[in-house]
Amino acid sequence: MTDQEIETLLHQFFDDNLETLKLEGNHVLTVAVRESARQQVLMYWRKLNGIAKQVTDTEVKLTLPAQQSPEGRPFAIEGVVDIVQNTEQTTMYDLKTHDEVSIRSNLESYEAQLNVYAYIWQHLRGEKLDRTAIISTDLPEAVQRALREQREGQLDYALAKWQPIIEIPCKPDQIEQTLHKFGEIVDQIEGGNFAPPSADQLQNVVPGTRSAFGRYVCRNCDARFSCSSYRQYIRRSSRGGSKFEAEFRQYVLQDYGDDEARLNRRLLEGEN
Ligand code: SF4
Repeated sequence: MTDQEIETLLHQFFDDNLETLKLEGNHVLTVAVRESARQQVLMYWRKLNGIAKQVTDTEVKLTLPAQQSPEGRPFAIEGVVDIVQNTEQTTMYDLKTHDEVSIRSNLESYEAQLNVYAYIWQHLRGEKLDRTAIISTDLPEAVQRALREQREGQLDYALAKWQPIIEIPCKPDQIEQTLHKFGEIVDQIEGGNFAPPSADQLQNVVPGTRSAFGRYVCRNCDARFSCSSYRQYIRRSSRGGSKFEAEFRQYVLQDYGDDEARLNRRLLEGEN
């Protein structure tokens, strides 16, 4: 099958999945979100089809049961990874929707999670493992711009510059420490300790970027309009309340498809 034929199939799979989501859960995506998701799938395929073609086990579920938090709460850890095995080596890939820059700037938190998966794979499953890496599926700004502007050669150049595979060496000696940290998080969640960072903290620049946390992280957070810290942060910024208002309107009153999609949605809502 040629790469072009595969892309045609990807379009079909994408549309079929969307239709299933709509029928099963009444999920409707805006046109902009739908097309941006479609582009993400296609660009991901174009950049990483070399690895995609080699994957031997996809969506491998890894479970570490019977753990206990520092406050005595039982918990288990579950994760899903992709495995590439060939005659020379075995590589574990953990796919993340986060962008490449923030992954590279916060390697230790990704390292901790990969360490646990590597531990399960090697010690509980008794499998061989040579390399571990994160794959960032988020499209870099340069690729998004190239898709928008459609200048000749721009997309090829942006795709060539994109480095979505981030190798992270395993550190098996840190597994106990990592499990302890996960246990602490379990205690925080179960104890109802969900407080967001303060508005001041949202002004801190994210390492490896030139953007504040409030801009770099919070703008992608679905909880931002009900987050007191974010509301405070945005009201302090240059255009304050009007900016928040405009962003909120855009978020809530965005385009929910063409007339037919809206009618279908209303009919489905009426049925439920
Ligand atoms: S907007 Fe989201 S990411 Fe930002 S502080 Fe609030 S909860 Fe956290």
